[in-house]
Amino acid sequence: MTTPQPVAVVGGGIGGLSVALALGRVGAHTTVYEQSPQFEELGAGIGLGPNAVRRLDAWGLGQSLREIACVPDALLVRDAEDGRVLGRLPMADAFVSRHGAQYLTVHRADLHQLLLKSLQQQGTAALKLNHGLSALTQAPTGVQLTFDNGEQVDSVQALIGADGLHSRVRGVVCGEQAPVPSGHWAYRTLLPMQAVPLAWRQSQMGMWLGSGLHVVHYPVRGGESLNLVVLVEAKDDATTAGWDVARTAAQTDEDLQAATHACCPALQALLEASAHWRAWCLFDRPPVPSAAHLVRGSVALAGDAAHPMLPYLAQGAGMAIEDADCLAHQWQIPHASTAQRLQMYAQARWQRVAKVQQRARRNGRIFHADGGWRMARNLAMALGGAKLMDMPWLYGA
Ligand SMILES: Cc1cc2nc3c(=O)[nH]c(=O)nc-3n(C[C@H](O)[C@H](O)[C@H](O)COP(=O)(O)OP(=O)(O)OC[C@H]3O[C@@H](n4cnc5c(N)ncnc54)[C@H](O)[C@@H]3O)c2cc1C
Repeated sequence: MTTPQPVAVVGGGIGGLSVALALGRVGAHTTVYEQSPQFEELGAGIGLGPNAVRRLDAWGLGQSLREIACVPDALLVRDAEDGRVLGRLPMADAFVSRHGAQYLTVHRADLHQLLLKSLQQQGTAALKLNHGLSALTQAPTGVQLTFDNGEQVDSVQALIGADGLHSRVRGVVCGEQAPVPSGHWAYRTLLPMQAVPLAWRQSQMGMWLGSGLHVVHYPVRGGESLNLVVLVEAKDDATTAGWDVARTAAQTDEDLQAATHACCPALQALLEASAHWRAWCLFDRPPVPSAAHLVRGSVALAGDAAHPMLPYLAQGAGMAIEDADCLAHQWQIPHASTAQRLQMYAQARWQRVAKVQQRARRNGRIFHADGGWRMARNLAMALGGAKLMDMPWLYGA
């Protein structure tokens, strides 16, 4: 009997590790190739919708996930300029009864560590650091990979590109196109809870909607810290990806102060509680237009490589987890070739992720509305309340 060729996963972020973990659970052996010298995640908090939490629970991570997460009681939406409460959406148990799972908030690094540890315990993946993919070709015998450390790998059964926003694998699947700079910036900070003004030391998610900006905050790390993010439409063209772009701390503070000068005193006081902000320029891509944009032959895309999105639905990692779950589902179908499985994966995923990308962009326009649009939004929130904030189509799937 010949040993099955392993599946190669390029990228060891939340997406790549989720793919390796989910495939391993259904008996597929993977090799994860990560370009960095260590597996690590930067960044701050992320929200995990019930759609993601339900899948992580099914992978057996439920208990350890809750040890690192917080369960917000509610989402409170306010107008950033006058501080008025626009709506309150009960979460926690209400989400369990409506969507079958909780909404959790976690630190991105904690989730990444949890996935890594679980994968190591599962023992179904080889993990290779310092392996930046530089080229790949598809041959009838399988996919051949070349890495920038000079190593070559022949004949892997399938390759999943989970190599993020600037994916190299993407070029092979659907041609090179640069991601789109949105002109929006995320300013993020993590505050020790004892430094947070008393009014905001709650087990709640807060969202403040302003003209050309919005602010989100929620507890992470079991309530030890508050994740605080200000999302701003910048005046200049944003072209730099990643954390700690070439701006001094003083410039970052200056930009942030200029952007938030019209916010109400309560919000200003919360923002002033942190002196350590970092700026992140936001990119996305147009919504996935067809299944063919997710797969070619034995090569498929997952996570941000496939469908990077603005964080205005808080679903980038959630969609990567759904991708992984869907891939594992296809791997269980008997008598299918690898190419057929990847085709079925792409067919099952493309419309869903395209809708999420589209809605994330639309949320940006609603959250940042100005003038008459702002008044119309606030009126709609007053009339529609919590119903407008809930998303059964997203959370229930
Ligand atoms: C401000 C902000 C807030 C967010 N909030 C949320 C939220 O609340 N909820 C949510 O679900 N999502 C959120 N997201 C989105 C989420 O963080 C991402 O969608 C998710 O982390 C993407 O994971 P990934 O593994 O696909 O990509 P990445 O995290 O980019 O990982 C890609 C990995 O591939 C590696 N790599 C790249 N190129 C190569 C190569 N050639 N060879 C080998 N390895 C390579 C990289 O080093 C990296 O480790 C947010 C994003 C931002 C910017």
